[in-house]
Amino acid sequence: MLELAKVDADLSRVEHRRRNLPELAEIAEVEKTLRERRDALVAVETSGSDLDREIARQEKEIESVRAREDRDRKLLASGTISAKQLTDVEHELETLQRRQTALEDDLLELMERREAIELDAQRTGAEVDKAEQTLADAAKRRDEAVADLDATQARRDADRANLLPRFPDDLLKLYERVRAHKGIGAALLRSRRCGACQLDIDRNAIAEIKAAPEDEVIQCENCGAILVRTLESGL
Ligand SMILES: [Zn+2]
Repeated sequence: MLELAKVDADLSRVEHRRRNLPELAEIAEVEKTLRERRDALVAVETSGSDLDREIARQEKEIESVRAREDRDRKLLASGTISAKQLTDVEHELETLQRRQTALEDDLLELMERREAIELDAQRTGAEVDKAEQTLADAAKRRDEAVADLDATQARRDADRANLLPRFPDDLLKLYERVRAHKGIGAALLRSRRCGACQLDIDRNAIAEIKAAPEDEVIQCENCGAILVRTLESGL
């Protein structure tokens, strides 16, 4: 009976450990971090591609200003325009050059921002990789711990199956009922104390236990655990 109680205590411990593996909390935490970092990466990549589009637009604009400058220069070089037209074209060319310089300054700034975003994306990407690695490590440790628990459980389940045929049905039913309510179905009576609830058995009950035949099932008056008597019971 005590052996069965010991096996069941081990099985309860396995169950408890299974639910409270530190790796489970760790994994939940890392998964949260990973989600945040992936979101951050998406945000950085989105602003990167927004900026790429802006840069392309800016380059196209510069291209078209340059094309107009070329056209004006050709016109000036052709020598086929009037003095009035000449002044107009020269004026336009100056305006275009100022515009081009301004556009190029803006483009430079955009490219600097793009570079900063690229660095940010690399850094965030590395953080995502790191979180993924941490998650994989934690999952591996969890799997190992679960495999350990599975092995212990399988061993103890087998022990239990071997023990059960040794007990009469009534006794087993009582044992299971007490265990379902109190967690411990049977315990040693040691020095007049219940090994399940750790309370001292009172004098009268001890006298009754003493008087009871050896094969009679006795239970703790406090917790109901089946009490196993030995020479150490203090009877
Ligand atoms: Zn008790």
